[in-house]
Amino acid sequence: MDRISVVVPCYNEEKVMPLFYKEMKRVMNIMNYVGFEIIFIDDGSKDNTLRIAKSLKARDDRIKYLSFSKNFGKEAAIYAGLENCTGDYAAVMDADLQDPPALLEIMYRYLKQEDYDSVATRRVTRDGEPKLRSFFARRFYHLMNHISKTNMVDGARDYRLMKRQMVDAVVNMKEYNRFSKGIFGWVGFKTKWLEYDNVERAAGESKWSFRKLLFYSFDGIAAFSTMPLGIASFSGLFLCILSFISIIVIMIRHLIGVKSAHGWSSMACIILFVSGFQLFCMGVVGQYLAKTYLEVKNRPIYIIREKSF
Ligand code: UDP
Ligand code: MG
Repeated sequence: MDRISVVVPCYNEEKVMPLFYKEMKRVMNIMNYVGFEIIFIDDGSKDNTLRIAKSLKARDDRIKYLSFSKNFGKEAAIYAGLENCTGDYAAVMDADLQDPPALLEIMYRYLKQEDYDSVATRRVTRDGEPKLRSFFARRFYHLMNHISKTNMVDGARDYRLMKRQMVDAVVNMKEYNRFSKGIFGWVGFKTKWLEYDNVERAAGESKWSFRKLLFYSFDGIAAFSTMPLGIASFSGLFLCILSFISIIVIMIRHLIGVKSAHGWSSMACIILFVSGFQLFCMGVVGQYLAKTYLEVKNRPIYIIREKSF
């Protein structure tokens, strides 16, 4: 009998966990031809998430839990779950039922019957999400696919079911700045995309503020594209050529006796522009340096405080 590990990152999810378990139990009953393991990763929650995970475990021995020493973020939680799971297949699923557990059956069927290594999901609608957020999310994916060789699908969720081989490949990517959507794309393998309409959270609230998402998108760009560095050096070269041409033009004008206007304002503008641009490019380089600094330190991606297995 095949076994499916379901990795569930949970950060302050006391309100939805019982609902999640109820729905998962229903799905597990329908899919009684496979074994299950549900791993709750308590990502340093401040509410009763861990206590609920423990009480669910007491009721159902298919449940396991892992608790972090502090909040390490969803990416770290996904990594910890995948690293510790033992199933032939592994699914990553949010606790808030925005990733419908019922899809597991279809996903499993695709992996069993067709030649796919993973089945991923994407939302085709973003109903219920703030308009501004949807707009920036769309722009982000558009930009990302232009500047990165790793294909990222608009509306892709982290919800997916993978074969062991792919799980091992993902776990082998031990980078500290994790961006799962990029990592899943980078490791390759044959992926089937399932589309579904956005589902709203069953209870509780989203942990992502607009600010958090914005910084997360910078992480994604820095992790999967070096295009900003290319743009910086290309623009530098362009400005050099431009100034070289200007110098020649000014010299010729001078030699043939054309008087140049004596203005300090144009000069000030040029100096401000060029020095501003230089600082901007240094900032871009600095961003990459900062990421490299964090990688080189080789800190653990997560620290476990308590685990049930
Ligand atoms: N999550 C987490 N650590 C965090 C933030 C979120 O483990 O620091 C989990 C959260 O409990 C949920 C999933 O990641 O299971 C998705 O979070 P959320 O629903 O808040 O994000 P959204 O669906 O709004 O993008
Ligand atoms: Mg959610």
